[in-house]
Amino acid sequence: AADWDPRSNITADHLLDGLLTADFTYGSCRSRYQFAGYHWESSHKPSPCLIAKLRKQEALQKRCGPGTAAYEKAVRRLDSGEGVVDDGCRYLVYISYRGLGNRMLAITSSFLYAVLTERVLLVDGGKDAADLFCEPFPGTTWLLPRPGWFSFSPLRRLQGYLGGSKESLGNMLQSGAVTVSAGGNVSWSAPRPPPYLYLHLSGGGSYGFHDKLFFCGAHQRLLGEVPWLFMWTDNYIVPGLFLTPPFTGELEAMFPEKDAVFYHLGRYLFHPTNAVWHAVTRYYRSNLAGAAQRVGLQIRVFQKNQPPQAVLDQLLSCVRGERLLPETTAANGTSSQAVLVTSLSSWYYERIRDEYGGRVAGGVHQPSHEGRQRWRDAAHDMRALSEMYLLSMCDVLVTSGYSTFGYVAQGLAGLRPWVMPRAPMWADDWREGLDPQEPPCQRAASVEPCFHSPSAYDCAAGRDVDLDKVTPYIRRCVDVKCGIKLV
Ligand code: GDP
Repeated sequence: AADWDPRSNITADHLLDGLLTADFTYGSCRSRYQFAGYHWESSHKPSPCLIAKLRKQEALQKRCGPGTAAYEKAVRRLDSGEGVVDDGCRYLVYISYRGLGNRMLAITSSFLYAVLTERVLLVDGGKDAADLFCEPFPGTTWLLPRPGWFSFSPLRRLQGYLGGSKESLGNMLQSGAVTVSAGGNVSWSAPRPPPYLYLHLSGGGSYGFHDKLFFCGAHQRLLGEVPWLFMWTDNYIVPGLFLTPPFTGELEAMFPEKDAVFYHLGRYLFHPTNAVWHAVTRYYRSNLAGAAQRVGLQIRVFQKNQPPQAVLDQLLSCVRGERLLPETTAANGTSSQAVLVTSLSSWYYERIRDEYGGRVAGGVHQPSHEGRQRWRDAAHDMRALSEMYLLSMCDVLVTSGYSTFGYVAQGLAGLRPWVMPRAPMWADDWREGLDPQEPPCQRAASVEPCFHSPSAYDCAAGRDVDLDKVTPYIRRCVDVKCGIKLV
Protein backbone atom coordinates (compact mmCIF):
# COMPACT_ATOMS: atom_id res chain seq x y z
CA ALA A 1 0.00 0.00 0.00
CA ALA A 2 2.98 2.31 0.47
CA ASP A 3 3.36 2.51 -3.31
CA TRP A 4 -0.30 3.25 -3.76
CA ASP A 5 -1.10 5.08 -6.96
CA PRO A 6 -2.82 8.39 -6.19
CA ARG A 7 -4.87 8.18 -9.36
CA SER A 8 -6.66 5.11 -8.09
CA ASN A 9 -9.74 5.53 -5.95
CA ILE A 10 -9.45 6.55 -2.36
CA THR A 11 -10.88 3.61 -0.45
CA ALA A 12 -12.15 3.05 3.09
CA ASP A 13 -8.65 1.86 4.04
CA HIS A 14 -7.13 5.19 3.10
CA LEU A 15 -9.80 6.98 5.08
CA LEU A 16 -9.09 4.80 8.13
CA ASP A 17 -12.54 3.19 8.15
CA GLY A 18 -14.47 6.44 7.96
CA LEU A 19 -12.37 8.31 10.51
CA LEU A 20 -11.23 10.78 7.82
CA THR A 21 -13.52 12.88 5.67
CA ALA A 22 -13.45 12.34 1.91
CA ASP A 23 -13.67 16.11 1.35
CA PHE A 24 -9.95 16.77 0.76
CA THR A 25 -7.97 16.36 -2.43
CA TYR A 26 -5.13 13.86 -2.50
CA GLY A 27 -2.25 16.13 -3.52
CA SER A 28 -2.81 18.73 -0.81
CA CYS A 29 -1.66 16.38 1.89
CA ARG A 30 -0.30 13.00 0.89
CA SER A 31 0.26 11.72 4.43
CA ARG A 32 -3.49 11.73 5.01
CA TYR A 33 -3.93 8.86 2.58
CA GLN A 34 -0.52 7.16 2.77
CA PHE A 35 -0.30 6.89 6.55
CA ALA A 36 -2.22 3.60 6.69
CA GLY A 37 0.16 1.94 4.23
CA TYR A 38 3.10 2.42 6.59
CA HIS A 39 1.39 1.16 9.72
CA TRP A 40 0.07 -2.07 11.07
CA GLU A 41 -3.49 -2.76 10.20
CA SER A 42 -5.08 -2.64 13.59
CA SER A 43 -8.15 -4.24 15.06
CA HIS A 44 -9.25 -0.87 16.47
CA LYS A 45 -12.09 0.59 14.42
CA PRO A 46 -13.63 4.01 15.07
CA SER A 47 -17.18 3.70 16.43
CA PRO A 48 -20.15 5.04 14.39
CA CYS A 49 -20.78 7.46 17.26
CA LEU A 50 -17.23 8.86 17.00
CA ILE A 51 -17.50 9.18 13.22
CA ALA A 52 -20.82 11.04 13.51
CA LYS A 53 -19.33 13.45 16.08
CA LEU A 54 -16.34 14.17 13.84
CA ARG A 55 -18.54 15.00 10.84
CA LYS A 56 -20.69 17.25 13.06
CA GLN A 57 -17.57 19.02 14.38
CA GLU A 58 -16.30 19.56 10.83
CA ALA A 59 -19.61 21.23 9.93
CA LEU A 60 -19.39 23.47 13.01
CA GLN A 61 -15.79 24.46 12.24
CA LYS A 62 -16.85 25.42 8.74
CA ARG A 63 -19.96 27.33 9.80
CA CYS A 64 -18.30 29.35 12.61
CA GLY A 65 -14.60 29.32 11.74
CA PRO A 66 -12.31 32.16 10.61
CA GLY A 67 -13.53 33.95 7.49
CA THR A 68 -17.22 33.51 8.25
CA ALA A 69 -19.59 36.33 9.21
CA ALA A 70 -20.30 34.47 12.46
CA TYR A 71 -16.61 34.52 13.34
CA GLU A 72 -16.22 38.24 12.62
CA LYS A 73 -19.20 38.97 14.82
CA ALA A 74 -17.90 36.76 17.64
CA VAL A 75 -14.50 38.50 17.56
CA ARG A 76 -16.20 41.93 17.65
CA ARG A 77 -18.26 40.86 20.66
CA LEU A 78 -15.11 39.59 22.37
CA ASP A 79 -13.29 42.85 21.72
CA SER A 80 -16.15 44.94 23.02
CA GLY A 81 -16.49 42.79 26.15
CA GLU A 82 -19.97 41.42 25.49
CA GLY A 83 -20.60 37.96 26.91
CA VAL A 84 -23.21 36.96 24.36
CA VAL A 85 -23.31 33.86 22.20
CA ASP A 86 -24.31 34.58 18.60
CA ASP A 87 -25.40 32.16 15.90
CA GLY A 88 -24.74 29.25 18.25
CA CYS A 89 -20.98 29.73 17.76
CA ARG A 90 -18.76 29.32 20.82
CA TYR A 91 -14.98 28.97 20.70
CA LEU A 92 -12.12 27.16 22.40
CA VAL A 93 -8.66 28.60 21.77
CA TYR A 94 -5.76 26.32 22.57
CA ILE A 95 -2.63 28.27 23.56
CA SER A 96 0.48 26.40 22.55
CA TYR A 97 3.62 26.04 24.63
CA ARG A 98 6.34 23.45 25.32
CA GLY A 99 7.77 20.81 22.96
CA LEU A 100 5.99 19.24 20.05
CA GLY A 101 4.96 16.05 21.84
CA ASN A 102 3.33 18.05 24.63
CA ARG A 103 1.64 20.27 22.08
CA MET A 104 0.20 17.33 20.13
CA LEU A 105 -1.23 15.77 23.28
CA ALA A 106 -2.66 19.10 24.40
CA ILE A 107 -4.21 19.79 20.97
CA THR A 108 -5.81 16.34 21.03
CA SER A 109 -7.22 17.04 24.49
CA SER A 110 -8.52 20.46 23.45
CA PHE A 111 -10.10 18.99 20.34
CA LEU A 112 -11.95 16.34 22.33
CA TYR A 113 -13.13 18.97 24.81
CA ALA A 114 -14.32 21.13 21.90
CA VAL A 115 -16.29 18.20 20.46
CA LEU A 116 -17.87 17.42 23.83
CA THR A 117 -18.89 21.04 24.43
CA GLU A 118 -19.77 21.85 20.79
CA ARG A 119 -17.18 24.59 20.46
CA VAL A 120 -15.04 25.57 17.49
CA LEU A 121 -11.39 24.66 18.15
CA LEU A 122 -8.81 27.26 17.18
CA VAL A 123 -5.13 26.53 17.61
CA ASP A 124 -2.75 29.31 18.55
CA GLY A 125 0.01 27.10 17.30
CA GLY A 126 3.00 29.39 17.12
CA LYS A 127 4.72 30.32 13.89
CA ASP A 128 5.45 26.86 12.53
CA ALA A 129 2.15 25.02 12.99
CA ALA A 130 1.36 25.42 9.28
CA ASP A 131 4.80 24.01 8.32
CA LEU A 132 4.14 20.88 10.36
CA PHE A 133 0.52 19.87 9.91
CA CYS A 134 -2.10 19.90 7.19
CA GLU A 135 -5.50 21.32 8.05
CA PRO A 136 -7.68 18.63 9.63
CA PHE A 137 -11.08 20.24 8.89
CA PRO A 138 -12.22 20.75 5.29
CA GLY A 139 -13.16 24.19 3.98
CA THR A 140 -11.76 26.18 6.90
CA THR A 141 -8.66 26.69 9.04
CA TRP A 142 -7.99 25.54 12.58
CA LEU A 143 -5.22 28.12 13.04
CA LEU A 144 -6.19 31.18 15.04
CA PRO A 145 -5.79 34.31 12.92
CA ARG A 146 -3.71 36.72 15.01
CA PRO A 147 -5.25 40.19 15.20
CA GLY A 148 -3.14 43.16 14.11
CA TRP A 149 -0.84 45.06 16.48
CA PHE A 150 -3.26 47.98 16.82
CA SER A 151 -5.96 45.68 18.13
CA PHE A 152 -6.76 45.39 21.85
CA SER A 153 -8.33 42.00 21.39
CA PRO A 154 -7.66 39.49 24.19
CA LEU A 155 -6.68 37.18 21.33
CA ARG A 156 -3.50 39.23 21.03
CA ARG A 157 -2.42 38.67 24.62
CA LEU A 158 -2.79 34.90 24.72
CA GLN A 159 0.86 34.07 25.35
CA GLY A 160 0.83 36.47 28.30
CA TYR A 161 -1.33 34.17 30.44
CA LEU A 162 0.81 32.35 32.92
CA GLY A 163 -1.79 31.40 35.47
CA GLY A 164 -1.97 34.82 37.10
CA SER A 165 -4.78 36.16 34.95
CA LYS A 166 -7.78 37.45 36.85
CA GLU A 167 -9.96 36.00 34.12
CA SER A 168 -8.91 32.43 34.92
CA LEU A 169 -11.52 30.02 36.19
CA GLY A 170 -9.51 29.50 39.39
CA ASN A 171 -9.20 33.23 40.13
CA MET A 172 -12.82 34.00 39.23
CA LEU A 173 -13.95 31.32 41.69
CA GLN A 174 -11.57 32.55 44.39
CA SER A 175 -12.54 36.20 44.00
CA GLY A 176 -16.26 35.42 44.04
CA ALA A 177 -16.81 36.76 40.50
CA VAL A 178 -18.72 33.55 40.01
CA THR A 179 -20.05 31.08 42.56
CA VAL A 180 -21.32 27.55 42.30
CA SER A 181 -23.73 26.52 45.05
CA ALA A 182 -23.72 23.11 46.76
CA GLY A 183 -26.70 22.25 44.57
CA GLY A 184 -24.71 23.14 41.46
CA ASN A 185 -26.33 26.51 40.66
CA VAL A 186 -24.10 29.01 38.91
CA SER A 187 -24.29 32.75 39.65
CA TRP A 188 -22.17 35.57 38.26
CA SER A 189 -21.52 38.73 40.25
CA ALA A 190 -21.85 40.72 37.00
CA PRO A 191 -25.21 40.88 35.17
CA ARG A 192 -23.88 38.62 32.44
CA PRO A 193 -21.21 35.95 32.02
CA PRO A 194 -17.88 37.38 30.84
CA PRO A 195 -16.97 37.25 27.13
CA TYR A 196 -14.09 34.90 27.86
CA LEU A 197 -12.49 32.77 30.53
CA TYR A 198 -9.00 31.41 30.77
CA LEU A 199 -8.42 27.77 31.76
CA HIS A 200 -5.10 27.06 33.42
CA LEU A 201 -4.51 23.32 33.21
CA SER A 202 -0.75 23.23 33.21
CA GLY A 203 1.23 20.31 34.60
CA GLY A 204 4.24 20.36 36.89
CA GLY A 205 2.22 21.25 40.00
CA SER A 206 1.45 24.84 38.99
CA TYR A 207 -2.28 24.56 38.70
CA GLY A 208 -4.20 24.82 41.91
CA PHE A 209 -7.32 23.54 43.62
CA HIS A 210 -9.66 26.07 41.99
CA ASP A 211 -8.28 25.54 38.49
CA LYS A 212 -8.81 21.80 38.91
CA LEU A 213 -12.54 22.37 39.52
CA PHE A 214 -12.61 22.39 35.71
CA PHE A 215 -13.12 18.64 36.08
CA CYS A 216 -16.45 19.08 37.96
CA GLY A 217 -19.87 18.81 36.35
CA ALA A 218 -21.25 22.03 37.88
CA HIS A 219 -18.23 24.01 36.75
CA GLN A 220 -18.69 22.68 33.26
CA ARG A 221 -22.19 24.19 33.29
CA LEU A 222 -20.61 27.50 34.29
CA LEU A 223 -18.14 27.33 31.41
CA GLY A 224 -20.92 26.50 28.97
CA GLU A 225 -22.28 30.06 29.44
CA VAL A 226 -19.04 31.70 28.29
CA PRO A 227 -18.62 32.31 24.52
CA TRP A 228 -14.80 32.13 24.41
CA LEU A 229 -12.52 29.83 26.40
CA PHE A 230 -8.72 30.05 26.24
CA MET A 231 -7.03 26.86 27.31
CA TRP A 232 -3.41 26.64 28.45
CA THR A 233 -2.25 23.08 28.93
CA ASP A 234 0.71 20.87 28.11
CA ASN A 235 -1.06 17.73 29.27
CA TYR A 236 -3.11 14.85 27.95
CA ILE A 237 -6.17 15.68 30.05
CA VAL A 238 -8.41 13.11 28.30
CA PRO A 239 -8.53 10.65 31.25
CA GLY A 240 -9.70 13.60 33.37
CA LEU A 241 -12.54 14.27 30.89
CA PHE A 242 -13.66 10.64 31.30
CA LEU A 243 -13.89 11.37 35.05
CA THR A 244 -15.97 14.54 34.54
CA PRO A 245 -19.65 13.55 35.04
CA PRO A 246 -21.37 15.28 32.10
CA PHE A 247 -18.87 13.73 29.67
CA THR A 248 -18.49 10.17 30.95
CA GLY A 249 -21.46 8.58 29.17
CA GLU A 250 -20.81 10.35 25.90
CA LEU A 251 -17.13 9.40 25.89
CA GLU A 252 -17.95 5.78 26.66
CA ALA A 253 -20.26 5.75 23.62
CA MET A 254 -17.66 7.42 21.39
CA PHE A 255 -14.87 5.12 22.53
CA PRO A 256 -16.11 1.59 23.28
CA GLU A 257 -12.39 0.72 23.37
CA LYS A 258 -11.16 3.19 25.98
CA ASP A 259 -7.51 2.51 25.23
CA ALA A 260 -7.80 3.77 21.63
CA VAL A 261 -8.68 7.45 22.15
CA PHE A 262 -5.34 8.96 21.10
CA TYR A 263 -4.94 6.23 18.51
CA HIS A 264 -8.05 7.47 16.69
CA LEU A 265 -7.86 11.19 17.45
CA GLY A 266 -4.13 11.41 16.70
CA ARG A 267 -4.70 9.75 13.33
CA TYR A 268 -7.65 12.03 12.70
CA LEU A 269 -6.01 15.35 13.61
CA PHE A 270 -2.35 15.09 12.65
CA HIS A 271 -1.24 14.81 9.06
CA PRO A 272 2.35 15.89 8.43
CA THR A 273 2.70 18.37 5.58
CA ASN A 274 4.08 17.10 2.27
CA ALA A 275 7.58 18.39 3.16
CA VAL A 276 7.69 16.48 6.45
CA TRP A 277 6.05 13.41 4.98
CA HIS A 278 8.52 13.32 2.13
CA ALA A 279 11.40 13.26 4.66
CA VAL A 280 9.68 10.49 6.65
CA THR A 281 8.94 8.20 3.73
CA ARG A 282 12.33 8.74 2.08
CA TYR A 283 14.14 7.86 5.31
CA TYR A 284 11.87 4.88 5.87
CA ARG A 285 12.43 3.48 2.40
CA SER A 286 16.22 3.91 2.51
CA ASN A 287 16.79 2.57 6.01
CA LEU A 288 13.91 0.64 7.48
CA ALA A 289 11.62 -0.78 4.81
CA GLY A 290 13.74 -3.86 4.05
CA ALA A 291 13.74 -5.28 7.58
CA ALA A 292 11.28 -7.91 8.74
CA GLN A 293 11.03 -6.21 12.13
CA ARG A 294 11.80 -2.63 13.16
CA VAL A 295 12.81 -1.94 16.75
CA GLY A 296 12.50 1.70 17.86
CA LEU A 297 14.55 2.95 20.82
CA GLN A 298 13.58 6.41 22.09
CA ILE A 299 16.04 7.98 24.50
CA ARG A 300 15.02 11.17 26.24
CA VAL A 301 17.09 12.54 29.09
CA PHE A 302 15.60 15.30 31.22
CA GLN A 303 18.19 15.87 33.96
CA LYS A 304 21.44 17.52 32.98
CA ASN A 305 23.36 15.65 35.69
CA GLN A 306 22.23 12.22 34.56
CA PRO A 307 25.29 10.12 33.61
CA PRO A 308 24.82 8.89 30.01
CA GLN A 309 26.33 5.55 30.93
CA ALA A 310 23.52 4.93 33.44
CA VAL A 311 20.90 5.69 30.77
CA LEU A 312 22.64 3.37 28.32
CA ASP A 313 22.94 0.57 30.91
CA GLN A 314 19.24 0.85 31.64
CA LEU A 315 18.38 0.66 27.96
CA LEU A 316 20.70 -2.28 27.25
CA SER A 317 19.45 -4.26 30.22
CA CYS A 318 15.88 -3.63 29.08
CA VAL A 319 16.69 -4.83 25.56
CA ARG A 320 18.48 -7.92 26.92
CA GLY A 321 15.91 -8.71 29.59
CA GLU A 322 13.03 -8.54 27.11
CA ARG A 323 15.07 -10.26 24.36
CA LEU A 324 14.25 -7.55 21.85
CA LEU A 325 17.52 -7.90 19.89
CA PRO A 326 19.91 -10.86 19.40
CA GLU A 327 22.62 -11.20 22.05
CA THR A 328 25.02 -13.04 19.74
CA THR A 329 25.55 -13.26 16.01
CA ALA A 330 23.35 -16.13 14.86
CA ALA A 331 25.06 -19.14 13.21
CA ASN A 332 23.21 -18.48 9.97
CA GLY A 333 24.11 -14.78 9.86
CA THR A 334 22.30 -11.82 11.33
CA SER A 335 18.71 -11.26 12.40
CA SER A 336 16.45 -9.56 9.90
CA GLN A 337 15.78 -6.62 12.21
CA ALA A 338 16.56 -2.94 11.88
CA VAL A 339 17.02 -0.58 14.80
CA LEU A 340 15.87 3.06 14.86
CA VAL A 341 17.39 5.20 17.61
CA THR A 342 16.01 8.66 18.39
CA SER A 343 17.75 10.99 20.79
CA LEU A 344 19.03 14.53 20.96
CA SER A 345 22.55 13.08 21.34
CA SER A 346 24.49 10.75 19.02
CA TRP A 347 26.40 9.11 21.89
CA TYR A 348 23.75 6.44 22.55
CA TYR A 349 23.39 5.65 18.89
CA GLU A 350 27.16 5.05 18.55
CA ARG A 351 27.23 2.67 21.54
CA ILE A 352 24.15 0.78 20.34
CA ARG A 353 25.58 0.50 16.82
CA ASP A 354 28.86 -0.86 18.25
CA GLU A 355 26.93 -3.42 20.28
CA TYR A 356 24.24 -4.53 17.83
CA GLY A 357 25.29 -3.28 14.39
CA GLY A 358 26.89 -6.59 13.43
CA ARG A 359 23.95 -8.65 14.64
CA VAL A 360 21.04 -7.04 12.81
CA ALA A 361 20.92 -7.19 9.03
CA GLY A 362 18.88 -4.00 8.77
CA GLY A 363 21.48 -1.94 10.65
CA VAL A 364 21.21 0.68 13.38
CA HIS A 365 19.97 4.14 12.33
CA GLN A 366 19.55 7.58 13.84
CA PRO A 367 17.91 10.22 11.63
CA SER A 368 19.25 13.29 13.49
CA HIS A 369 21.01 14.41 16.66
CA GLU A 370 19.94 17.93 17.37
CA GLY A 371 22.10 18.40 20.46
CA ARG A 372 19.44 20.25 22.41
CA GLN A 373 15.80 21.19 22.31
CA ARG A 374 15.16 24.39 20.36
CA TRP A 375 12.28 26.85 20.43
CA ARG A 376 10.46 28.48 17.53
CA ASP A 377 12.65 26.70 14.99
CA ALA A 378 10.56 25.20 12.19
CA ALA A 379 13.31 22.95 10.77
CA HIS A 380 14.01 21.53 14.24
CA ASP A 381 10.32 20.84 14.86
CA MET A 382 9.96 19.23 11.43
CA ARG A 383 12.76 16.80 12.30
CA ALA A 384 11.17 16.06 15.66
CA LEU A 385 7.83 15.37 13.98
CA SER A 386 9.46 13.11 11.35
CA GLU A 387 11.08 11.08 14.10
CA MET A 388 7.84 10.63 16.02
CA TYR A 389 6.28 9.28 12.81
CA LEU A 390 9.29 7.04 12.06
CA LEU A 391 9.09 5.59 15.58
CA SER A 392 5.38 4.99 15.02
CA MET A 393 6.28 2.85 11.98
CA CYS A 394 8.27 0.43 14.17
CA ASP A 395 7.02 -2.96 15.31
CA VAL A 396 8.56 -2.85 18.78
CA LEU A 397 9.15 0.25 20.91
CA VAL A 398 11.25 1.06 23.94
CA THR A 399 10.50 4.54 25.25
CA SER A 400 11.71 6.87 27.98
CA GLY A 401 9.21 7.37 30.80
CA TYR A 402 7.64 10.84 31.17
CA SER A 403 8.33 11.72 27.56
CA THR A 404 5.37 12.95 25.54
CA PHE A 405 7.52 12.51 22.42
CA GLY A 406 7.40 8.76 23.08
CA TYR A 407 3.68 8.86 23.91
CA VAL A 408 2.84 10.33 20.52
CA ALA A 409 4.87 7.64 18.72
CA GLN A 410 3.29 4.76 20.64
CA GLY A 411 -0.19 6.24 20.27
CA LEU A 412 0.02 6.74 16.52
CA ALA A 413 1.50 3.25 16.17
CA GLY A 414 -1.04 1.55 18.40
CA LEU A 415 1.86 -0.21 20.17
CA ARG A 416 2.33 -0.85 23.88
CA PRO A 417 5.95 0.11 24.46
CA TRP A 418 8.47 -1.06 27.02
CA VAL A 419 8.85 2.02 29.20
CA MET A 420 12.03 2.90 31.08
CA PRO A 421 11.23 4.63 34.38
CA ARG A 422 12.61 8.15 34.85
CA ALA A 423 12.63 10.75 37.55
CA PRO A 424 10.25 13.60 36.76
CA MET A 425 11.81 16.41 34.75
CA TRP A 426 11.52 18.82 37.68
CA ALA A 427 13.44 16.48 40.03
CA ASP A 428 16.84 17.75 41.18
CA ASP A 429 18.44 14.37 40.87
CA TRP A 430 17.87 11.77 38.18
CA ARG A 431 17.69 9.05 40.86
CA GLU A 432 14.92 10.83 42.77
CA GLY A 433 11.96 8.60 43.48
CA LEU A 434 13.42 5.67 41.54
CA ASP A 435 13.36 2.34 43.32
CA PRO A 436 16.70 0.53 42.80
CA GLN A 437 14.76 -2.74 42.74
CA GLU A 438 12.61 -1.53 39.85
CA PRO A 439 13.12 -3.41 36.55
CA PRO A 440 14.94 -1.43 33.81
CA CYS A 441 11.68 -1.27 31.84
CA GLN A 442 8.06 -2.34 32.05
CA ARG A 443 5.43 -2.94 29.42
CA ALA A 444 2.91 -0.07 29.37
CA ALA A 445 -0.61 -1.20 30.24
CA SER A 446 -2.02 0.43 27.09
CA VAL A 447 -1.05 2.54 24.09
CA GLU A 448 -2.65 5.64 25.62
CA PRO A 449 -0.55 8.61 26.75
CA CYS A 450 -0.31 9.28 30.48
CA PHE A 451 -2.08 12.30 32.04
CA HIS A 452 0.74 13.53 34.29
CA SER A 453 -1.12 15.82 36.65
CA PRO A 454 -4.74 14.78 37.15
CA SER A 455 -7.09 16.13 39.79
CA ALA A 456 -7.87 13.59 42.52
CA TYR A 457 -10.78 15.69 43.80
CA ASP A 458 -14.19 14.04 43.68
CA CYS A 459 -16.51 17.05 43.29
CA ALA A 460 -19.69 15.28 44.46
CA ALA A 461 -18.06 13.78 47.55
CA GLY A 462 -16.02 16.91 48.27
CA ARG A 463 -12.77 15.03 48.94
CA ASP A 464 -9.80 13.44 47.22
CA VAL A 465 -10.08 9.85 46.00
CA ASP A 466 -7.69 7.17 44.82
CA LEU A 467 -7.87 7.58 41.05
CA ASP A 468 -6.72 3.98 40.57
CA LYS A 469 -10.01 2.75 42.04
CA VAL A 470 -12.67 4.95 40.49
CA THR A 471 -13.33 3.05 37.28
CA PRO A 472 -11.90 -0.15 35.76
CA TYR A 473 -10.59 1.63 32.67
CA ILE A 474 -8.38 4.18 34.44
CA ARG A 475 -5.09 3.10 36.01
CA ARG A 476 -1.90 4.67 37.31
CA CYS A 477 0.92 4.94 34.74
CA VAL A 478 4.03 2.80 35.12
CA ASP A 479 6.33 5.76 34.46
CA VAL A 480 4.59 8.59 36.33
CA LYS A 481 3.43 7.54 39.76
CA CYS A 482 0.85 10.31 40.22
CA GLY A 483 -0.36 10.10 36.59
CA ILE A 484 -3.33 8.17 35.20
CA LYS A 485 -4.14 6.62 31.85
CA LEU A 486 -6.95 4.89 30.01
CA VAL A 487 -6.44 1.13 29.69
P1 GDP B 1 9.10 15.57 26.02
O1 GDP B 1 9.78 16.80 26.55
O2 GDP B 1 9.99 14.38 25.93
O3 GDP B 1 7.83 15.28 26.77
O4 GDP B 1 8.67 15.83 24.49
P2 GDP B 1 8.35 17.16 23.69
O5 GDP B 1 8.23 16.75 22.26
O6 GDP B 1 7.23 17.90 24.28
O7 GDP B 1 9.63 18.10 23.85
C1 GDP B 1 10.89 17.65 23.51
C2 GDP B 1 11.43 18.36 22.28
O8 GDP B 1 12.85 18.19 22.25
C3 GDP B 1 10.92 17.79 20.97
O9 GDP B 1 9.74 18.36 20.54
C4 GDP B 1 12.08 18.08 20.05
O10 GDP B 1 12.07 19.44 19.71
C5 GDP B 1 13.27 17.82 20.96
N1 GDP B 1 13.61 16.37 20.98
C6 GDP B 1 13.61 15.55 22.07
N2 GDP B 1 14.00 14.31 21.72
C7 GDP B 1 14.24 14.33 20.38
C8 GDP B 1 14.67 13.34 19.43
O11 GDP B 1 14.90 12.17 19.74
N3 GDP B 1 14.77 13.75 18.13
C9 GDP B 1 14.51 15.04 17.75
N4 GDP B 1 14.64 15.37 16.47
N5 GDP B 1 14.14 15.99 18.62
C10 GDP B 1 13.98 15.66 19.92
